[in-house]
Amino acid sequence: MEKINLKQAAYINGQWVNADNKIAVNNPANNDIIGYVPDLEKDLVHQAINSAAEAFETWKNTSPDIRYNLLQKFYELIIRDREKLAKIITIENGKALQDARKEVDYGANFIRYFAGEPYRISGATLPSANINNRTQYIKQPIGVVGAITPWNFPMAMIARKLGPILAAGCTAVLKPSEFTPFSCNALIELLIEAGLPKGVVNVITGDAAMIGEIMTSHAQIKKITFTGSTRVGKIIYSNCANQIKKLALELGGNAPLIIFEDANQNLAIEGIIASKLRSGGQSCTSINRIFLHEKIYDQFIENFKIVFANVKLGDGLNEENDLGSVINQAAIDKYEYLIADALSKGAELVLGGKKLSGQGCFFEPTIIKNANPNMEIFSQEIFGPIAVFYKFSNDQEALALANKTNYGLASYLYTQSQLKARHISENLQYGMVGINETILANEMFPFTGIKESGIGVEGSHLAIDEFLNIKSINYRVS
Ligand code: ADP
Repeated sequence: MEKINLKQAAYINGQWVNADNKIAVNNPANNDIIGYVPDLEKDLVHQAINSAAEAFETWKNTSPDIRYNLLQKFYELIIRDREKLAKIITIENGKALQDARKEVDYGANFIRYFAGEPYRISGATLPSANINNRTQYIKQPIGVVGAITPWNFPMAMIARKLGPILAAGCTAVLKPSEFTPFSCNALIELLIEAGLPKGVVNVITGDAAMIGEIMTSHAQIKKITFTGSTRVGKIIYSNCANQIKKLALELGGNAPLIIFEDANQNLAIEGIIASKLRSGGQSCTSINRIFLHEKIYDQFIENFKIVFANVKLGDGLNEENDLGSVINQAAIDKYEYLIADALSKGAELVLGGKKLSGQGCFFEPTIIKNANPNMEIFSQEIFGPIAVFYKFSNDQEALALANKTNYGLASYLYTQSQLKARHISENLQYGMVGINETILANEMFPFTGIKESGIGVEGSHLAIDEFLNIKSINYRVS
């Protein structure tokens, strides 16, 4: 494979910068160190925020054409470098190359979609209670946005935030995951090539808690948009309280999939496989609990096993593999703990259950059946290539089990009955429902969670409002 140049720096006020202290980044497929990013001191974090604040004064007043041109050019460059970006994702995240290519397309589409949004930011004029008055409201960019992103979609999560931030006329300070900073930097190189003005986007790397504290307490940061764990989301939420800082949180999930007796079973099997192969099941929307009707239980699991056992596991760079490595040993330790707990409480292991011997963080496609709500695996986010089956006998029971969680992100159901699909989807306590489909997120889909899964919307025409303030103006007409 030709050598890929990784940008090993932070990006502040239009300059790539470095520091004496560094953070090592490794490839989870072989544990090799692939590069380093700076472990920035506090003053550079402040510099990044101040430069975004200064740039905002100009960027907020740019014409829609300027913002469209930048984003559209950025999109074209991402597509030009699709292969290189996919490889960077694979070597720092571990996911299979074919999956990484899908991530590049997924992320790029957000940039293309939001390129057009500057033309559509609008307000309205409303009547007033006083007949001599009118009310007008306009929408204005919020200001500097602090964006904190995770490692599971290292490129797409940056793109999904950058599209609406830039389209709205905001500027940004990005903090990518310390495990996967190079996908972010590769994107920023393309954004610079597309004509990014100085200070409009900055990238900082370093101690996450320190950066989080500065971002949440800095008066110039007007909004935080965070994607990551519910644990960290709660810290950020509480730290934002002091300044009533606006925030969007896209947090963990505990997605149920209900497969009713009348489901198209082949479609359901395809759906579970797609969900488990997407970032190796390391996605907050990945199916965590499968509720299967008792009448189809054993046969369905047998059929599913045949397909899941055929999944090719190995180095993500090898085109033949469907499933790459997971992010690190800590993830594997968690799977082993959850599986052991489930088996000790009566679950049965149908397939897999182990890490591959040798280097790298490869975990076998795994199936567990006869699980029940007393097991840890029922309430914790697995984040891996593990399918866990529960049995139910009627619709009410399935719905109650599905809703028995503090999370409320994605949920899924398979049935051929229109009425049942409508009824169950309206009663699932989740921000998103997939009916006979498990891949939901795209640039046109309002991605949103309730309960402890988050606040705010990403994707669709609703998402630009996350980065705009409403200003109401009352004026006299006579
Ligand atoms: P995950 O389990 O998906 O890695 P995390 O919530 O740990 O989720 O990480 C998501 C992002 O949040 C990463 O960029 C990480 O560095 C960052 N992060 C971790 N701790 C904090 C914190 N205390 N404040 C702000 N950001 C944090």
